[in-house]
Order: sequence, then structure tokens, then C-alpha cells
Amino acid sequence: MSDQIEHSIQYFLDHKDIYLQQLNQFIRIPSISADSKYKTEIIRAANWLVEYLKAIHMDQATAFETKQGPIVYAEYLRAGQEKPTVLIYGHYDVQPADPLEEWSSDPFEPTITDGFLHARGASDNKGQFMTALAAIDSIFHIREIPVNLKFLIEGEEEIGSPSITDFLINHKEMLKSDFALNLDAGMIAEDLPTIVYGLRGLAYFEIFLKGPEHDLHSGVFGGVVYNPAQALAEILSGMKDSDGRILLPSFYDDVLPLSDDERKELARIPLDESYFKRQAEVSELWGEKGYTPAERVGCRPTLDINGILTGYVGEGPKTVIPSSAMAKISMRLVPNQKPDHVQQQLIKYMQQKVPAGFTWEVKPLTSDFPCVISRDFYATQCFAKALEVVFGKKPIYKREGGSIPVVSYMKEYLGIESVLSGFGLPEDRIHAPNEQLNLKLWEKGVKTIIHFFNNLECATPL
Ligand SMILES: [Zn+2]
Repeated sequence: MSDQIEHSIQYFLDHKDIYLQQLNQFIRIPSISADSKYKTEIIRAANWLVEYLKAIHMDQATAFETKQGPIVYAEYLRAGQEKPTVLIYGHYDVQPADPLEEWSSDPFEPTITDGFLHARGASDNKGQFMTALAAIDSIFHIREIPVNLKFLIEGEEEIGSPSITDFLINHKEMLKSDFALNLDAGMIAEDLPTIVYGLRGLAYFEIFLKGPEHDLHSGVFGGVVYNPAQALAEILSGMKDSDGRILLPSFYDDVLPLSDDERKELARIPLDESYFKRQAEVSELWGEKGYTPAERVGCRPTLDINGILTGYVGEGPKTVIPSSAMAKISMRLVPNQKPDHVQQQLIKYMQQKVPAGFTWEVKPLTSDFPCVISRDFYATQCFAKALEVVFGKKPIYKREGGSIPVVSYMKEYLGIESVLSGFGLPEDRIHAPNEQLNLKLWEKGVKTIIHFFNNLECATPL
């Protein structure tokens, strides 16, 4: 068995240049989803992928049309029913390359300098999920791959995945798998293999407050009318206390407390106060008392004011009492909070706090469920073991402050967990000029996935 792993890795190393050339070919297709000018390139990238998946021995590969970027699906089911089925997720669309003048080389002509591949999509996400394809091909040259495989590679991730939920719902049977492998997460640092086991959710609202029928002269009405801008400011400031605790009624009731064991594990993450100060370029941090920054970002809910609109903000003075005020606020949610519960809590808060004489409205804009995947999940453990062998150290388990919506969609619509990792780095400059891929990590990534598929063969699903 371990011989076969070694041989597969050797095959990969012997053919590394070919795999790299194939990745470069793929990267040269400017599959930018945000700009409709690139629609034909999106189609070209989807078709390229279909051909590539067929070439690496998938039983079938198809591009399913959507409104914008087709969803590429492929499968290999010859390992047999008793073997696990892995759904590999990725996205082949990329961010626009602008501003072009800030690139030191053509964003769609991959160039290698000092062990880094520079190009748009090199890290996010082409370079990441293509590690799995190189691993699969390398295994196939030595033996039959010991697990069943399904692929879902979308072309709309960078524009918010507008087609993915319908696709999951309408192809539930076709996508039936034991779990998903999602390589869109990345590592904390070059020597710190990372598994993300939690993601925060989101609940986003607009709050409208309406006072007088029309704007009023502050000389005539100042002192006799409640100013909506002031009322909104009071409402917003009442949402938190001075310790950073959120004061919406029952807000923390659904929040899963952190276990001691989890806090110990999170303390291994080398993201301390000075890291956040440096990254945010601030002199002081602020947040809920009693938790470290890494805990606050990954495991505690937040409430933020994202924008306020009221009154006169043009040049010069205008002595006005505005007739209305609006704020955009959003909460990052943690297990087991639910966006609709949070909406009810917000409405209750408004019922209690809005002064008499005002009308108001809470309008939900967008939401996403939080999730935590057990660190003991067998597939996560198989991946952790693979990382440990290749990197020579145990991976860090991290809870992410943001969301990767597809992870909660897969949980909700397909009923499966995701193994969330990757080989990209914070300094890869994804979405920015001069995006890069660390080729040492790309190589380690392919090796990890070769080990991973082999580990799965002998694991007992829980
Ligand atoms: Zn991205």
C-alpha cells in the first residue's frame, strides 16, 4: 500500500513539468466571471476542464449550462459502492485583473520567478483545486484510484454563486456523496498546514427610521422635534455594551460555548494581538472581553454597522433636521445561531427601543448559516494525517471569521460535511495585482492529496 503511495508521488515528481504546463494552459484562459465581455472565455475554461477531466480517467464529464458560468460535473464510480465517494469542489472563474498597470507581468501569461507562479487564478482557485486533479492522474498511473470521485467546479464563485443552490437542489441524486473536499481555504503560513473546521454565518439588514413627514428647519423645530439621525444613533449605540457584548434580546441563547479543549487548540494559532494590529494598521484592538482575538474572529458572533445614511452630507452647512435615517448593519454568526432567529431578535430590539412617533422597518438583505465540522470527522482526520506526513507537523485547526457559502449549502441541500483546506497563503495576493502561487506548496499539495485518497481507502466512515 505505502509502496503505491510512493510510486504515485514519484510519478508526479517525474511529470511535474507537464502538470505545471497543463495548469498554465488553464490559467491562460481569462475566465473572469464579473465581466460579461469574458463570457466566451468562461465557456472555454469550462470546456477545457471537461476535456481535462475526461483525460484523467473520469467516467464522464459535462458542463451544465447556467445563466452565466457553466457548472462542470464529472464522476468516477469504479471504486465500488463500499468505498467512499468524495465530491471535489472548486471554481474555475477568476477575479478581474484590474488595475493592470500594477502587475509586473501579464496576468494571463503565467511566469515563474523564485519558485512562485505569477498569474490571475494561480492561487484562487485554479492552482488550488488542480492539485487534486494532478494527484488523481498520478495515482491512476500506478493503480486504480481507491475511492469514488465526483466533481463540482463552478464558474460563478467570484460573483456570489448565483446558480449553485438551484443546481444542488436539482441534482441532489447525481451529487450524492459521503463528503466534499473544498480546497478554497488555504494555510495560515508556509510551515503551518491548516484545516478550517468552522465558518461564521451572516445576517445582513437595513434599518429604516422615519420621523417627520419632511425635512425641517433646525432653527424653527430644533428642540421640539426628535431628530431621526439622533434616534438612529441611540438605537445603534444601544446594540452593544462597553464590554463589546451584543444587547439584542436572547442574542447569545443559540451561541455554542467554546470548550476548554477547543480553546487550547485555538491557542496554537499564531495570530495574536500584534498580528491583528499590524494587519489592520491600528494602534488598539477592540472587542468582546474575555476572548482572544483569534477566538473573537473565529468563534464569537459580531454586530457591525456597515453604513449610515441620513441628513445633509454635502459641502457647506445646512441647518436641517432630516426626516429619516437608515443604517446597514450585519452580524457574523456562529453555531447554532440562525439568520431568521437573529432577525426576530433585531425586530424585538427595535420594538423596545424605537421612540414613540417614529415608524421603522427592518429589511433583510442577505444571510448565510454558520457551520462547524467536527475535528474528529473521519475524512478530516484522513486529511490531517496526510498533511502531517507531507509537512512533518500536525495541522492547525482554525475557525474562519468569514463565510464560504457553498459549505453550508452542501450541508443543507446535500446533507454532507466538507473537508476544508488548501495550499494557498495569505500573501498570495488573491483578488489583487501580482497574484502568486508558491510552487513548493503546490507540490506538497499534490502529495498531500495522494496520501489523502489512500488514507480514505482504509478509514472507517463514522
Ligand atoms: Zn476568490
